[in-house]
Amino acid sequence: MNHADLPPELTAQPTPLIEAVRAIAQGPLASQAYAIDRGSYPVDVLRQLAAAGAMSAHLPDADGTPGDYGLAIAAMAEAAKVCGATGFMMWCQCVAGLYMQASGNPALGGERLARHVSGQSLGGTGLSNPMKSFAQIEALLLKATPVEGGYVVNGTLPWVSNLAADHYFGSIAAVSQDDSEASREIMFMLRCDAPGVTLKACPEFSGMEGTGTYSVHCKDLFVGHADLVADPAKPLIARIRGGFVLLQCGMAAGIIQGAIDSMWAVEGQLGHVNQYLEDRPADLQAELDALVARIMQLAETPFDTSTDYFINVLDARSHGAELSLRAANSALMHQGARGYLMQSAVQRRVREAQFVAIVTPAIKHLRKEMARLSAEEMPA
Ligand SMILES: Cc1cc2nc3c(=O)[nH]c(=O)nc-3n(C[C@H](O)[C@H](O)[C@H](O)COP(=O)(O)OP(=O)(O)OC[C@H]3O[C@@H](n4cnc5c(N)ncnc54)[C@H](O)[C@@H]3O)c2cc1C
Repeated sequence: MNHADLPPELTAQPTPLIEAVRAIAQGPLASQAYAIDRGSYPVDVLRQLAAAGAMSAHLPDADGTPGDYGLAIAAMAEAAKVCGATGFMMWCQCVAGLYMQASGNPALGGERLARHVSGQSLGGTGLSNPMKSFAQIEALLLKATPVEGGYVVNGTLPWVSNLAADHYFGSIAAVSQDDSEASREIMFMLRCDAPGVTLKACPEFSGMEGTGTYSVHCKDLFVGHADLVADPAKPLIARIRGGFVLLQCGMAAGIIQGAIDSMWAVEGQLGHVNQYLEDRPADLQAELDALVARIMQLAETPFDTSTDYFINVLDARSHGAELSLRAANSALMHQGARGYLMQSAVQRRVREAQFVAIVTPAIKHLRKEMARLSAEEMPA
């Protein structure tokens, strides 16, 4: 077996895109991974990845050919193997494109979507807070007041990634209403350069420093129909939630594979003593291969809205987070002091894996959702 490869289900993906992503990942991305970890936002690499088609494989073609979620996940894994932060930003760009395409709003499709797909413009997603709000974990932070021609939005999101002054991201706000109205939310693309929007630097994180993550403050931001993704938001969320969560598995698969590869890298020298460790590379590889096979099967029907399907997606995503933590930690045990060097990808990956476990949906959030949905599914 070639230990630098991904699981068979991933390497079986059509090769031109994967080969292009691999060349970028092993070349310019690998040489910048340390700088990204220290806070450098890799805008050029992201543009190259987008131009290669790495963040749009899941979107349908103009001729109606459906998108390929498995391919998008494989492309993300190829980059995340080298740099988890970049894998995360690819996911941000992927789902921003999904929102624009799924909106059916001509103003968000066409030229605007084409610029996004090619990487000429970049964006992200501010859906952590709404996802947690829909799971009754916290209240919605953005409020929208209906006005002539659209809405006025106020509030602050504490952290949104893949941003810069001219970027944008998908977001959700609660529509203020009088007592007679049912509660409703709008989903929209928030332009960072719109009047009333301020990006503020976040406190220093222990990882993911190069992900262009800012807190976003909105003061009387006007959102017109051209930026509306969905009104009301929930029916669209119900349609895309499976794909949204499933795509994150690409980030996890890459980080896990990177960790396994780094264990094999020291096997010749340290295998005689590493054999006493748990979570050995062959065992982790078998577990990853089985998980990826399951993810690829789920990726065939990303718009399945059944509860059963979504529980399965949440479970696979949760397994990905747990395996990321175990694999990254075991890789550090296998590599010892060399893996503990600040320049080493091995310790960086421990922090990247921790991010996979805490980014929305975090492991605790996934478990809460699975418990709630399973209880709903139980016959009375
Ligand atoms: C590097 C990074 C990038 C991220 N990028 C995005 C993104 O692109 N889009 C997006 O929507 N979300 C993003 N997030 C948020 C992320 O998805 C989670 O929502 C976040 O990590 C907290 O999730 P949690 O489930 O652990 O909530 P918890 O940590 O359990 O938080 C629950 C509550 O505690 C509050 N809280 C958390 N930290 C603090 C603090 N330091 N001080 C005061 N109150 C606090 C929260 O606001 C929340 O109300 C990012 C987070 C990080 C660390």
